Amino acid sequence: MYFARRQQSLRAVLEKQRLDAILITHAPNIRYLCGFTGSAGALLLTARGATFFTDGRYREQSKTEVRNARIVVRPKSPLESASEWLLEKAKTQLRVGIESDHVSVAARDRLTSALGSKARLIPTSMLVERLRMIKDADEIQLMRQAAALGDSLFATILQTARVGVPEIEVAAALEYEAKKKGAQEMAFGTIIASGARSALPHGRASQATIQANGFVVCDFGVILTGYCSDMTRTLFMGRPSAEARRIYDAVLEAQLAGVSAVRPGATAAEIDQAARKSLKKIGLAKYFTHSTGHGVGLEIHEAPRLAATSQEVLQPGMIITVEPGVYIPGKWGVRIEDTVLVTETGHEILTHTIKELSSC
Ligand code: ZN
Ligand code: ZN
Repeated sequence: MYFARRQQSLRAVLEKQRLDAILITHAPNIRYLCGFTGSAGALLLTARGATFFTDGRYREQSKTEVRNARIVVRPKSPLESASEWLLEKAKTQLRVGIESDHVSVAARDRLTSALGSKARLIPTSMLVERLRMIKDADEIQLMRQAAALGDSLFATILQTARVGVPEIEVAAALEYEAKKKGAQEMAFGTIIASGARSALPHGRASQATIQANGFVVCDFGVILTGYCSDMTRTLFMGRPSAEARRIYDAVLEAQLAGVSAVRPGATAAEIDQAARKSLKKIGLAKYFTHSTGHGVGLEIHEAPRLAATSQEVLQPGMIITVEPGVYIPGKWGVRIEDTVLVTETGHEILTHTIKELSSC
């Protein structure tokens, strides 16, 4: 892993922001910068070095996992240890960045009173997240493996999704298979949304039984070696009517249009528009009620967001989803989602499951 390089990139950001140090408390950011995968930790990065704070429960684990940082284990919360350490070391008043997207108001107040005049806390936003947008070679490899595991689970859906079977049973079979194949956990609550529930973009698998002559939206992801997969396929139970086919084909066309627009230099908004334009032509755009996609990596939803207003420019190494959907309330819904790597020349789709309409 490129921990030293990642820390160096963050130092360059600190310098630009005139920060003496930054206190990283968001677990995925800690993992990204030094490798720790546990739940109680804080990483203090300065121009000269990095110090990782944890408590006794993680003494052994931090020794095996943490790289490029000295480890401090104290019998108190990582934030308390970090502020104690700063009090001991700081000679002049330091400008210390905190991750304002992740620190609670209570935690900030505790830090402020513990540090007194020794530090000025400076709210920062998305500093590590912006570095994480561009995946390095190791991460791309891990994302490929996670996507391949995700792909391999589609067969389980085809085997278990039947009329009369509860959605939750399909999800359970899929999750069991995922764990047998090495997934640590699911990246989010598996979505198996059938019948009228397919019109709920986030219809978590429920006790509802799968009905005939309706769509089943299946959106699922695993976490493998820390990295998330994310894909959606939509099935039809029975023989699709002309209307069902029209909606499916429209979403597929929008998805393909979105994917083909993915290349370095394009803005996130352009990808969103490419997918939306294709649905607008046939009057379905009003039923596409969410943004076109999101970055994915150590977290299931991370930067960049592929929203209609986002001027974020795509760069090689970004990994994003392209997932347009059409949801007709009370009736049905369709979504198709791939995970896509932005390459030097265009893009590479990491999810390989077929996108032709599968009927069960
Ligand atoms: Zn998804
Ligand atoms: Zn997604």
